[in-house]
Amino acid sequence: DILNYTPTTDSLADKIILVTGAGDGIGKVASLTYAKCGATVLLLGKTESKLEAVYDEIESLGLAMPAILPMDLEKASFAQMNELATLIQKEFGRLDGVLHNAGVLGALTPLEMYDPITFEQVMHVNGTAVFMLTQALFPLLVSAPSGSVVFTSSGVAKVRPFWGAYALSKQMIEGMSTIFTEETKNHTALRFNCINPGATRTNMRAHAFPGENPLTLKTPEDIMPAYVYLMTDMASGVKGQVIHCQPK
Ligand code: NDP
Repeated sequence: DILNYTPTTDSLADKIILVTGAGDGIGKVASLTYAKCGATVLLLGKTESKLEAVYDEIESLGLAMPAILPMDLEKASFAQMNELATLIQKEFGRLDGVLHNAGVLGALTPLEMYDPITFEQVMHVNGTAVFMLTQALFPLLVSAPSGSVVFTSSGVAKVRPFWGAYALSKQMIEGMSTIFTEETKNHTALRFNCINPGATRTNMRAHAFPGENPLTLKTPEDIMPAYVYLMTDMASGVKGQVIHCQPK
């Protein structure tokens, strides 16, 4: 059972895994957890100081040296993403996994009043940029012995009213995972799945539900079994799934 999987110090031995939004919230904990499981983690994110703090923590634990990849997914061009892929190929020689975790909430507003500029930003960071980065990294991922792409969905992906572009972007992500899965049927080693973290104690959740007591929520650490499992070779047969980390 994926949710009861117990990660060990060698669950991800020798794997090279890129995490987006690695500086905060779930992405920060996933990066630290992957490193503790033996992976070399490529920390991609917007705020460099946050990535440096994660880097320092991994280094102080004496784990495999991570790398910092500063990138603002709202502004990065496809050419920059291709350069990133070239850099990974040159420095690391391969890429075993990508956790697409970065995301923005946007406005919680009826579509009737939703600011189109915010709409485009949210769709880009949570949707289009995920597609662009996956395409740029595709040659690396498809040649990995057991490549794993993990997208981040949400309970509102089933199109929740008042969640606007965020809900639509998460629906796009689930569709993207399905299409990539179908289109790569013949690449038996490469898999695409989504994780729905469920209500988790982070800044984004606090912003969406300001009246809620965060202590009632699961922490990012609590939901790590699924995040690690999908990156292990044990998950090689898991394809096109949406893994819900918490009971609905
Ligand atoms: P946080 O807001 O705590 O963290 C989001 C991360 O994404 C930050 O590291 C942030 O970097 C990064 N990010 C945002 N915009 C960009 C950008 N333009 N370029 C690069 N990185 C960016 O959110 P969570 O940890 O809660 O969320 C992580 C994922 O989980 C998201 O995809 C979210 O939609 C999803 N999710 C979360 C739930 C929850 O309850 N927490 C529930 C369901 C889904 P920086 O800090 O530098 O801006």
